[in-house]
Amino acid sequence: MPHVLLQSSFPLTPRMQLLKRYGDGVHVSILDRLPTPFGLVRSGVAPDHQDTKNVINQFSSIAGDARVSFLGNVLVGRDVDVNELRALHHAVVLAYGAESDRRLDIPGEDGSPGAGVFSAREFVWWYNGHPDARHLPIDLSKVRSVAICGIGNVALDCARALLAPPLRFVPTDLAAHALAQLTGDHQTGGGSAVREVHLVARRGPVQAACTPKELKELLTDCGVSARTATPDQLTVSEADSAEMKATRLKRRVFELVSKAVGEASAADAATAAGDRSSPQRRRDLFFQFYRNPVEVLRGPGGAVTGLRVERTAVRPDGPGGTSVAVGSGVFDTIPCDMVLKSIGYKSLPVQGVAFDCRRGVIPNVAGRVLQQTNATASSAASGSTSGSGGGGKGGVPAADVGLYVVGWLKRGPTGIIGTNLVDAEETVDSLAGDAEALLRAGEMSHGSAGPPGAAGLEALLRQRGVRVVGWRRWRLLDEHELAAGRAAGRVREKVTEVREMLRICGFAVE
Ligand code: NAP
Repeated sequence: MPHVLLQSSFPLTPRMQLLKRYGDGVHVSILDRLPTPFGLVRSGVAPDHQDTKNVINQFSSIAGDARVSFLGNVLVGRDVDVNELRALHHAVVLAYGAESDRRLDIPGEDGSPGAGVFSAREFVWWYNGHPDARHLPIDLSKVRSVAICGIGNVALDCARALLAPPLRFVPTDLAAHALAQLTGDHQTGGGSAVREVHLVARRGPVQAACTPKELKELLTDCGVSARTATPDQLTVSEADSAEMKATRLKRRVFELVSKAVGEASAADAATAAGDRSSPQRRRDLFFQFYRNPVEVLRGPGGAVTGLRVERTAVRPDGPGGTSVAVGSGVFDTIPCDMVLKSIGYKSLPVQGVAFDCRRGVIPNVAGRVLQQTNATASSAASGSTSGSGGGGKGGVPAADVGLYVVGWLKRGPTGIIGTNLVDAEETVDSLAGDAEALLRAGEMSHGSAGPPGAAGLEALLRQRGVRVVGWRRWRLLDEHELAAGRAAGRVREKVTEVREMLRICGFAVE
């Protein structure tokens, strides 16, 4: 029976593909560094997008299957290393996604902790109750204006969390500490002070990375007034017009922004003319197109006071004539108290595995991880004993046999959950193509029974004193969160401290 290990617990699609392909002939061990499964769905997907989280039901429906072992609270690199995992299984699939962030590399970006600059990932983890971000020094009662760098869908998720009426989040699984800051309570007083968000995009509306559905949701369902700082921020070139003609989605994004900005100006004009029907607690969403962040400005105590931006023009000067932002030498300051960097996630290397630091991915061909070379042996990977060299054909290193990769770690931080389906199918095709060789290798190293898989891994972790959260223990925590949610009229009340999670899972914690 092939034993396959998936590192990260939202590898829903590869796991389903494997079970479908092999039926009873496969056992899948799923690791997660947290006691909770579901990775991105629990800590990345927006709380007001509960429909997207329904994929959890598919995962849960077969996670208790005898062919699947969930091993939560197991950190690769601390509790076990990749070479040990490989020795215990026929194949290892790396699926740990992107848990770091791209940098702007501008002055003022790094302040002392609490100094008001966070990556969007950190902010999203904070409001989603990820234990690593639960104690970030975020105090929305002291923040009036937020600049978000980037205009992808993650930036829109952050803008909705900051601008939408808090009632939108009350029934969801938004973490209680974040909800308290949005709504206000006896500790935080009046709730969030945020009144304006600036979406800072280095290119124009036609190049915006967000999608129309998500943009429409922010513009029409969240009670925001859309604005531009200067009228020329909605200017489009001839090339932009041609692009909009050719691409419906680009045209739609432009139309949505223009319409929303037009409606907000008309409402302002009506208010100025004496119409008092405009909402009392208006929250403004500024589209800062053609603005490249160049410095985070800070006051004497280090607090953020603004984001300095350079005005840009878009030119076809990129590789293959792609459009890039070119600086104009004219600068503006966007006054703000907090900066969120929503310019893309970044994957991190794992010891013993090749890593392409430039692209932030594990080098692979159709999901087969390639052997390390001098160029791909990153510092974290330097202790590797797994296939250094690179004896493949045509200069491409050979595959590191038995090691696979899926998701953002395989192709970079783009695409939605559905994109991973196609991606996983490709990786599982590769694994299936290698199955005979992997089974033969397993017999050579372990005899006819092959490697021990999850049973061997659990024994090793037990011996090391690791408190492994299996599926039954997770269900105790799941039930606890669901019951607390029901009592509060919410989908779920998340536990956000690992210690408390382990206690609820039935471990004695000191
Ligand atoms: P993204 O879509 O790649 O957007 C990144 C944004 O950051 C772009 O506006 C980009 O501008 C900007 N940027 C990058 N480097 C920059 C720099 N050095 N300075 C200034 N701006 C910079 O990334 P994302 O928003 O993190 O989303 C990741 C993926 O998850 C996307 O595929 C997204 O669709 C998906 N997602 C989907 C949903 C949903 O469906 N509801 C929700 C969240 C995320 P340029 O275009 O000029 O490079």
